[in-house]
Amino acid sequence: MNGLVVVRQRGSGSDGDAPWIVDGGRRVPGQDGRRRLGLVEEGLTRHPGARTVGSGATDTDVERTLFAIHDLGYLAALHDLSDLVILPRFAAPGLQPDIPAGPELVTAADEAIRTAISAARRVAAGTRFAYALCRPPGHHAGPAFMGGYCYLNTAAAAAHALLEAGAGPVGILDLDLHYPNGTSAIVARMPDVHLHSLHAWPVTNAPTDPVLPRTGRERLVEFRDAPDPEAYLDAVDESLDQLARTARVLVVSLGYDTVAGDPHGSWDFEPGVFAAIGRLLASCGLPICVVQEGGYAVDQLADCGGAFAAGLLAEAAVA
Ligand SMILES: [Zn+2]
Repeated sequence: MNGLVVVRQRGSGSDGDAPWIVDGGRRVPGQDGRRRLGLVEEGLTRHPGARTVGSGATDTDVERTLFAIHDLGYLAALHDLSDLVILPRFAAPGLQPDIPAGPELVTAADEAIRTAISAARRVAAGTRFAYALCRPPGHHAGPAFMGGYCYLNTAAAAAHALLEAGAGPVGILDLDLHYPNGTSAIVARMPDVHLHSLHAWPVTNAPTDPVLPRTGRERLVEFRDAPDPEAYLDAVDESLDQLARTARVLVVSLGYDTVAGDPHGSWDFEPGVFAAIGRLLASCGLPICVVQEGGYAVDQLADCGGAFAAGLLAEAAVA
C-alpha cells in the first residue's frame, strides 16, 4: 500500500528537552524538544494517506541494536548518568564538547532508537513508506561520540534493523543541513550500507575542510553558499540515481533545518521544497524509512511535514 505510516515516539512532556547547545562558540538555549514532534506530526497527518502508529520494538531490540552500532563503554557511560554533565571524552574527534548528557536526554534518545527500529521493521515487512517521528536527532552520534543534540544514531539503527531483516543493501540519504559525522563513522563499519549527504559549508560538526568521504561507499555534496532549490533538487536526484544502483531500500535522514528562519540554519528554502523532495523520493521506486533529524523553526515545521507527505504520496499515487 502507498500510504505513509508515521511511527510516533513514546513518552510525553518536556523532561528530555535539550537544555543548551554551543553554537558558533556560544552557549545558547536548546532548540530540540518534544514540541517539534507534535508540529511535524500535525503537518504529516494533514494528508489522509498518513496514519500514526506506536513504536512496538522491545527493550531487548533497542539494546541489541545499540550494541551493534555503538561502543559498549560509551553506552555504559550514557546509561549510568544520574545528573546533567559534560563528557569531554565523548566529544566528536577533533571537536569541543557542545552538549551536556543526562538521564532524561538518554531516555529520550533510547526512545528515538525504538521509534527508528519500529519504522524500519514496518518497511522490512512491506510498508512502502514509514516515518520515524523521533528526537533527539541522531546523525552526529558516532560509535563513541555525541554532539549537535545527538547521543544515539537513529539512522544507523534503522539501517541495522533493515539489514537484520534481510531487506538490504541499504542506502542512507542525509538531507539535513549539517554533515552527518556520526552516521559516517558508524556506516564505515557496515559494508552493506552506502551513505550520501547533501549539506552546508561551513559546518560546525567536522574538524577538516573540506570534509572527505570516509569510504568509497560515501558521497558528499557540499554547498558553500545557500543553493537554489533547483540545484539542490538536482543533487538529490543524482544521489537517488546512484544509491538505487546498489540499495534495495533507503533510509532518509530528513532535516527541516534548511528552511528560512531556522535558528541553527543558514539557508532560505521554503517549506514547499519538501514536496519536491517527497516526489523525487517516491519516484525512485525504493521502499523508504524516513528518520527525523533536525529542523527547529517551530513556526515552519507543520508546513514542512505537510509538504513532504503531500509530495511523497502524490507521486506514489501516480507511480
Ligand atoms: Zn541539522
